[in-house]
Amino acid sequence: MKRLKEIINILEDNNDFLILSHKDPDGDSIGSQLALYSFLKELGKSPYILNQDEVPRKYRFLKNYNRIKHNLPGGFRYSVVIFLDSPTIERVGDVRKLVDLNKLIVNIDHHPSNSYFGNCLFVDPNSSSTAEIIYRLILEMGIKIGKERAASLYAGILTDTGRFRYPNTTPRSFFISAELIKEGIDPSFIAEEVYSKKSPQELKLLGMVLSTFTISDGVGIIDLTKEMLQSIEKKSLDTEGLADYVLTVEGIKIGLLFKEQNDGKVKVSLRSKGNGVNVSDLAANFGGGGHETAAGCVLECSIKEAKNRILSLIGKRLGRKL
Ligand code: 5GP
Ligand code: MN
Repeated sequence: MKRLKEIINILEDNNDFLILSHKDPDGDSIGSQLALYSFLKELGKSPYILNQDEVPRKYRFLKNYNRIKHNLPGGFRYSVVIFLDSPTIERVGDVRKLVDLNKLIVNIDHHPSNSYFGNCLFVDPNSSSTAEIIYRLILEMGIKIGKERAASLYAGILTDTGRFRYPNTTPRSFFISAELIKEGIDPSFIAEEVYSKKSPQELKLLGMVLSTFTISDGVGIIDLTKEMLQSIEKKSLDTEGLADYVLTVEGIKIGLLFKEQNDGKVKVSLRSKGNGVNVSDLAANFGGGGHETAAGCVLECSIKEAKNRILSLIGKRLGRKL
């Protein structure tokens, strides 16, 4: 495992680390960042986590979540920038403008669409999650995982495998999860925190979104409009996981969620059950990316136009009009 060793050398030889991950954070990006943060602290180093967006409420049970910052203190010094779970530099969003990209760049990820940027890379598309890679990194350095890091890493594996349901769920995901449970975490508690702490508004929003469901030739579509969000009267709502509902309908091969953003653009979440339908390729056509079964992209147009463009491409790929 040569490249993991190279990363270990970098961690050993440096002191000040900036840890970045993608915007719209999820369980894997946050869990991996927090586990690496705690690990570097234990090594006596100075890590600093910088993210564009706030930690969603459901991940705030994780220790040190409030160490995730959204600004760099003036004069902050760092020699290494570690990108976690981010297939491209752009995926970290606006914070990239705060960061000196001439420092040593480490890229640790599991997205097949990774652009292989940086000076030292460990990109493993066979890992269910970046959390799996961080687990291996910590063990490789001979440090005990411990209960707190185990909780962060387990949250990453749990969410990126869709609760051990997606095709990326492997014997290794189960093996590592079992080892994490042996560190003393409570999987039932973590599942409860992550999946059963919705606000009443979030449940109402889910109802509105699901009521837009349409289906055409194996492609299921749902919308989330600005009006829906306004009617809920809440600033920050967790919309992670909405797109996955579409695939729960029998016979659906591709699920699409069209979400109107505040900046007037439309975020499209694409989902498939695998079987040769690679939604990462579809998303890449619009400047996005992700995995074979879960991907995303952002289009600068109306929801209607975004649907036309995406469905026309899917139609071409599947060889029929939708
Ligand atoms: P979601 O639809 O839940 O936001 O994202 C699903 C998957 O696609 C995640 O693995 C996420 O990292 C990736 N993804 C989502 N949006 C984008 C995007 O705009 N660009 C790229 N490269 N990947 C994305
Ligand atoms: Mn991930």
